[in-house]
Amino acid sequence: MAKIIDGKKIAAEIRGEIAQECAELKAKGIVPGLAVIIVGEDPASQVYVRNKKKACEEVGFHSEVYELPEATTEDELLALVKRLNADDSIHGILVQLPLPKHLNDEIIIDNIDPKKDVDAFHPYNVGEIMIGEYDYLPCTPAGVMALLEKSGIQVEGKHCVVLGRSNIVGKPQAMLLLHANGTVTICHSRTKNLALYTREADILVVAVGKADFVTGDMVKDDAVVIDVGMNRRADGKLTGDVDFATVEPKASYITPVPGGVGPMTITMLLKNTLTSAKKHNNL
Ligand code: NAP
Repeated sequence: MAKIIDGKKIAAEIRGEIAQECAELKAKGIVPGLAVIIVGEDPASQVYVRNKKKACEEVGFHSEVYELPEATTEDELLALVKRLNADDSIHGILVQLPLPKHLNDEIIIDNIDPKKDVDAFHPYNVGEIMIGEYDYLPCTPAGVMALLEKSGIQVEGKHCVVLGRSNIVGKPQAMLLLHANGTVTICHSRTKNLALYTREADILVVAVGKADFVTGDMVKDDAVVIDVGMNRRADGKLTGDVDFATVEPKASYITPVPGGVGPMTITMLLKNTLTSAKKHNNL
C-alpha cells in the first residue's frame, strides 16, 4: 500500500508561509501584486483565473484580473502587457493560455518583462532554468519537487523517468530533477517500448494528458509515482494519467488526482509573485 502524498495539505502549509511573508512585507509598505489576463470565454480558463484570484486574496496579495473579449487584437493585448510591465504595483503578469487562435502565444509571452514573468515561460527564464540559476520556478514542476521534498523523498542518485516533454511540464521537470542530482530519462509519444523505461523508474512523473495511461504492470515495486495529469471523464469527474487502482498497490508513494499536484501549481505561482515583489524592492 502506497503512502498518499497529500498535495492539498502541503500546499496549505506553503501558502501559510507565503501569507506570513506577505504580512511582513505589508508592514514595510510593500504589497505583492499579480495581474492575470484572460482573453475569450474558455470555461476551463475562467475557472483557473478565478482560482488564481482567490488564492491571491487568501495570502493577502493585491490582484487584478483583465477579462478581454475574444476579438481583442494583438496590438491591444500587447498595449496592456506593456502598461503592466511599467506598473510598480504589479510584480507578476500572467497571460492565461491558450490564447484564441488569432493571437500568437509566443509573441505575447516574449513581451512580458522577464522580471514579472511569474509563470516562467519567457525564453529568458526558460534559459535560467536550464542553467540552474533561476529566480522564478516553473510552477507545476516546482510543485512536484516541493511534494517530493516535503514527503522526505530524496531525488539524488535515483532514476527519475519523466513521461511527457512539453515546455510547461515535462522539459522543465526533467531539468529540476537533474539539478537535484537525479538520473533522468525523458519519454514521449515516439518512445519505443515505453514500459521498459517506466519499469526502471525509482521516481516516475507522468504528464501525458491521457486518463489512466500508466497501469500497474508499467511500474516497478516501491516506485514513487507522481501524477501531473488532469483529465475530465465523461461524467465530468477529474482524473489523472495514472490508473490509481492498479498502481497504488505497487508504489511506495503516490499522488492522487485531484488533491496531488494540482493545488501546488498555484502555490508556486504565489511563491514567484512574492519573490518578484521582494526583488523589485531590493529585498
Ligand atoms: P502536452 O503539451 O499535451 O504534452 C503531453 C506529452 O505527453 C507530450 O510530450 C507527448 O509526446 C507525450 N505523450 C502523449 N502521448 C503519449 C504516449 N502515448 N506515450 C508517451 N508519451 C506520450 O501536455 P502538458 O501540458 O504537458 O500536460 C500534461 C498533463 O498534465 C495534462 O493532463 C494537463 O492537463 C496536466 N497539467 C496539469 C497541471 C497541474 O497543475 N496539475 C499543469 C499543467 C498540465 P510528444 O511530445 O511526442 O507529442
